[in-house]
This record gives sequence, structure tokens and C-alpha cells, in this order.
Amino acid sequence: MITHPLKCDVVIFGGGVAGLWLLAELRQQGYQVILIENDQLGAGQTRFAQGIIHGGTKYALLGKITASSEAISAMPAVWRDCINGKGVVDLTKVKILADNQCMWSTAALSSKLAGFFASKLMRSRTDELVNSQRPEIFQNKKFKGKVYKLDEPVLDTASIVSALAEPHIDAIMHSASLPQWQSDSNTVFNIDDANGQTWQIQTGLSVLAAGQGNAAILDTLGMQQPQMQLRPLKMVMLRGALPEKIYAHCLEANVNPRVTITSHEDAQGEIVWYMGGQLAEEGINRSDSEQVDVAKKELAAVLPWLDFSKVQWACLDINRAEPQMEKGKRPDTSFIAEQQNIITAWPTKLALAPKLAKDITEKIIASNIKPTAAGKLPAFPHPDCAVLPWQEEQRWK
Ligand SMILES: Cc1cc2nc3c(=O)[nH]c(=O)nc-3n(C[C@H](O)[C@H](O)[C@H](O)COP(=O)(O)OP(=O)(O)OC[C@H]3O[C@@H](n4cnc5c(N)ncnc54)[C@H](O)[C@@H]3O)c2cc1C
Repeated sequence: MITHPLKCDVVIFGGGVAGLWLLAELRQQGYQVILIENDQLGAGQTRFAQGIIHGGTKYALLGKITASSEAISAMPAVWRDCINGKGVVDLTKVKILADNQCMWSTAALSSKLAGFFASKLMRSRTDELVNSQRPEIFQNKKFKGKVYKLDEPVLDTASIVSALAEPHIDAIMHSASLPQWQSDSNTVFNIDDANGQTWQIQTGLSVLAAGQGNAAILDTLGMQQPQMQLRPLKMVMLRGALPEKIYAHCLEANVNPRVTITSHEDAQGEIVWYMGGQLAEEGINRSDSEQVDVAKKELAAVLPWLDFSKVQWACLDINRAEPQMEKGKRPDTSFIAEQQNIITAWPTKLALAPKLAKDITEKIIASNIKPTAAGKLPAFPHPDCAVLPWQEEQRWK
């Protein structure tokens, strides 16, 4: 059997937002990099994301502004620069679903939340919208709550994946196996590509950005650390007879978003509402039909003047993959750990992909790995970009 040799400065495993952003950034620095993806690009968590580029208000809602969570407050500006062609990577082809989102409270909660929104912290992050400035559904006379504008954009995740991948597709290999490391080496491994060719890859460093797949790759290296935690979600989507596209969080008495709704389009261009927030966190032990029943009740409670009797419902089960935290808590920033030429990475949020890539790039620059003159790469098979889940018709059955 022929084994094709390939020498790189850096190999990245995983073609979600984290791996793709890093690939673009490292290639700009002149590194010879390849990214290895064993499925389709974006097929993991990235295509299931709501596409919200958080600026940290969620942490403010939880009453937890810490030094690390402040890191996220810079993210909307970083993404906007890239979308405007002035950033570290080129996102000019990314589709903006909404320039900003809103938060709404039901009448019962408005008075309880008034003090919170009047706080200095929230005044700098949100503006209350008068009736004419609100999304149409909140202009209804029956709506008695308040609406606030949140300066955080919502992006189409499929367009993020294609904008990052297309200029670098020559460096993205579609693999068909896990890496098999040469004994006592963390820098040389064999891997099969999707055409059945075997490559022997020699690399200065490997970055594991394979989301939930990081655990299996660490296993091939015999590494027990860092440990991973999975936090499942049961998201709900609905389509048909929806009034308009909305991008909004409904606030709870304890100021946790009760439900977060983003809007997308199915394969026929019909509006889809995609529901996350507490509903998705608490729904993980429910069956699909139980979760749909709860979602119906939630919408009847928070948007009571709308009729959802003619919509079609579906559920999506998906895990968030993150570093292990004490008591399985939510990490509040991106994560990297370096050991023996291996960096394991989880962005923990789509929004934090630029921070993750910057942290890794700085680590690589500070290490002994110097960019070799990045030459033309040999031909190998490339993966396709994954379709958005609400555009897969079988999920609606
Ligand atoms: C329902 C949901 C909604 C979310 N909404 C938001 C949001 O609105 N805003 C936000 O900021 N964050 C959000 N997130 C979080 C965000 O989606 C993730 O933090 C982010 O997408 C993780 O990106 P990633 O590249 O690390 O992982 P992934 O997107 O999971 O990508 C990992 C890739 O690695 C590949 N892979 C796996 N194993 C291997 C292997 N052995 N070899 C090669 N490749 C491999 C996979 O096929 C996949 O393509 C959401 C998450 C979920 C689940």
C-alpha cells in the first residue's frame, strides 16, 4: 500500500467554526497548515447554533460579570469588522440575519425587571424601544410588556462556514479514519482520506478543534486530559403561518432568558422559528411530543395574541461539547490546553471563535514553530459544507 508523505507546520482536526477560523488566521501568518474533517464542514455544533454573536449580556442577565466573561463583550465588534472586510479574516460573504436582537418581558414581569434595566450595566448595553421601533409582533395592542434592543448581531451559520472554508479548501482534507500515531510520537501519524489513500503526516503541532470528537482523538494519543463535558439541548423549530422573522429573548422572573427565538428559512424559503433558552435546557429528558407540548404552552404564555395552531413542529437533540467544569457548570469563555505538541480547544460559543483562534495563534508564534514557506499542497479529497438542520426535510417528518 502506498503512503503519501505530507509535511506541515500545523494540523487542525475539525472543520467547525473553531477549526476553520484558525485555519484562515494561521495561513495568513504564512504557516503550512492542513485541516482534517471526517464529516461535512460545520456538521457538528456549528450548524445547529442560533448564530447569535453574544456580547456578554447573557452573563449580565445571570448577574455574573467576571473578568473572563468580559472577553466576550469585544466579540460583536470583531465579527462586524470581519464582515465589513476590515478584520483578521474575510467574512464579507457572511449573511447577516439581524443587525441586532431584542429582549422582551411580559406585562407581569416588566415591573420586576425595571430596576434591572435601569442599572448602569444594562443602560450601556440596551435601549428600550418605543412602540414604532419594535418588531411588528410587539406593536400589537394586546402586548403590554417592554422591548429592549440588544446590540448583538445574528448570523447565518452556513454562510460563516462557507465564507471561512472556500478560500482555503485546498488545505482541507476529507478524512475517513482517526489518526494512527507513530509509536512514541505526537507529531507523525497516518490517516486515510475519503478516497482510500493513506497519508503519513508530519506536523510541528496538532490542534484538536473537533468539538465532541476531541475525546476520541485524545484517546488515540493515550491522553486522559483535558476532560470533556457534554451539555445537551432539546431545541424546537416551527414553520408555516408565522407572522414574521424575529430575533428575541423572552425574559424570566429570575432574568434567565426563558426562550430565545431566532428565524431562518427552510429549503423552500419558508420562515422557521428556532427556539432555545431555558426551554431547550430543561427539555432534555422530555420526548419530542412532550417538548412540543411545552413549547406550545410557552408561546401561548409569552406571545398570547398570536395563533400557532397551523404551524408544523419538530425537535432537535444536540450536545454542546466543552471542557469539563466543576459540577458540569457552563464555561464562561473559550478554552485551550497545550501538552506535548497537542493543543486541545473548545470555543464554548460560536461568538468566541475569533478569541480562540487569536489565543492559539499567539501560542504558536511564541513557540518554536516557524512558518515554512507554505507551498502548493498535494491533491486530496475535500469535504462539502453541511446543510442547515431546518433545511433537511426529513427532520420535519
Ligand atoms: C443548539 C445550539 C445553539 C447554539 N447557539 C449559539 C449561538 O447562538 N451563539 C454562540 O455563540 N454559540 C452558540 N452555540 C455554541 C456553538 O455552536 C459552539 O460553541 C461552536 O459551534 C463550536 O464550534 P467547534 O468548531 O468547536 O465545534 P463543532 O461545530 O462541533 O465542529 C467540530 C467538527 O469536528 C469534526 N470532527 C469530529 N471528530 C473528528 C475527527 N475525528 N476528525 C476530524 N474531524 C472531526 C466534526 O464533524 C465537526 O465538523 C450553540 C450550540 C448549540 C448546540
